[in-house]
Amino acid sequence: MADFDYSQVKDLIDSLPTGLWLDEANVAASDGATFPVQDPATEEVLAQVADGTSADWMRALELADAAKGDWAAFAPRERSVILTEIFNEVTRRKEDFARVMTLEMGKPYRESLGEVAYGAEYIRWFAEEAVRIPGRYSQAPAGNGTITVSHTPVGPVLAITPWNFPLAMATRKIAPALAAGCPVIVKPAAETPLTMLLFGQVIAEVFERHDVPAGVFSMITTTKSADLSSELMADARLRKVTFTGSTGVGKILVRQSADNLQRTSMELGGNAPFLINDDADLDLVLDCAMAAKMRNGGEACIAANRFIVHEAIAEEFTQRLTEKMSAVTMGHGLDESTTLGPIITAKQRDTISALVDGAVAAGATVTTGGTAPEDSGFFYPATVLTNIPDDAEILRTEIFGPVATVTTFSTLEEGVDKANDTEFGLAAYGFTENVHTADYLAHALEAGMVGINRGAISDAAAPFGGIKESGFGREGGAEGIMEYISMRYIAKP
Ligand code: NAD
Repeated sequence: MADFDYSQVKDLIDSLPTGLWLDEANVAASDGATFPVQDPATEEVLAQVADGTSADWMRALELADAAKGDWAAFAPRERSVILTEIFNEVTRRKEDFARVMTLEMGKPYRESLGEVAYGAEYIRWFAEEAVRIPGRYSQAPAGNGTITVSHTPVGPVLAITPWNFPLAMATRKIAPALAAGCPVIVKPAAETPLTMLLFGQVIAEVFERHDVPAGVFSMITTTKSADLSSELMADARLRKVTFTGSTGVGKILVRQSADNLQRTSMELGGNAPFLINDDADLDLVLDCAMAAKMRNGGEACIAANRFIVHEAIAEEFTQRLTEKMSAVTMGHGLDESTTLGPIITAKQRDTISALVDGAVAAGATVTTGGTAPEDSGFFYPATVLTNIPDDAEILRTEIFGPVATVTTFSTLEEGVDKANDTEFGLAAYGFTENVHTADYLAHALEAGMVGINRGAISDAAAPFGGIKESGFGREGGAEGIMEYISMRYIAKP
């Protein structure tokens, strides 16, 4: 399963920039240290990447602070043109991006191409938004003056991103920050820095054509995130932290932001319910279930974690889901027949294994999958579990892998109560053919995003984000740019 011929991609791997993006492109870490990036399908080391230090981070902040005025003074139309050129270049090089992404993250090549298109779409969207940042003017009600509300860039931004969508999770932050006129320092996940390093190369080329000052965009790859981000956040020149990752790390960053009252956006974990009423169209449900569960191999914050099914159709649903999950082909993401790549790390694979084993020990039934193969590479098979006790850990935590849990309900209210019985509130899915039930579910499910008869909900034109412990702030839509904007009220006669 893990065999792969690297000679096919040798040139691409050799061409990857592996340094930091500071005032110059592609520079070594200040102490010369590097760290390895692995192919999770074979455990092969793909590249050694600069391991940024405290001095590198502070240099990035210094540059960002120095550049903030110049960048804010760029005409919105010019910022828009720059972003459009970045969009065009990412789109032109989509195959390179997709190959690199598959190599370092593991997802099947077709899915990587999908992520490149999705990630690029945020750049295009915010290129369009750059020239539409609103303001307002009105007469004061008392007639004694006027009210002007203007929007200014928030200032230097730190963007910390996860490994599961190496491009899109970053473009959702970089594009609105740049569109709003903010310099941005990006810290990609240490597991998947290569996609972003390629992106840095594209940005550097476009910026050079437009004489964009050093410091408007910097990127620090590092294995020392925890120490370095706290140091950066202790510096009042940093004005905003935008984070996508686990709820635990999000809470640390929010606490760290308190001293300087930095603005924060937190896109955190989820535990999405996928509620299926007895009047749902099962053909549609099955297609959407596979999309919501198996996109990115289940390593997605909005992945369906808990299938909550009306008892009248639970048996048929489980049987048909089991058939579909059994047909999934595990392998290297660059192999054309692969529909499920590896899990990102051995640790994450073991976490998934432990959740499944714990549920089985508590009485759950495995209808397909359930055992990790012993070959090299961090694989875990598509798995379906039923008869799961309500208090099983697997129902309470984010699985982040290709495991579907099926539980049942007898009344819609009971189903909704089960769906909402979680501290998370990122995405939720509801399936019914009844328009009133659809409306009820759209409002009763507690989540920042609700899909009704839809298994794929992400859209650059829509506000992506959660409630409860899934965080706050929105990425995409008309709302996304406001995360990078400070509001100013000006009173005049
Ligand atoms: P993670 O929280 O471990 O890491 C995310 C990023 O934070 C990485 O770049 C990591 O290096 C960095 N980091 C880790 N500790 C840090 C610290 N103390 N200070 C500063 N930076 C730190 O998460 P992960 O394992 O990379 O990603 C998986 C998680 O991300 C899941 O919980 C998933 O739900 C969540 N996620 C959320 C969304 C969303 O939009 N809500 C999208 C994708 C992933």
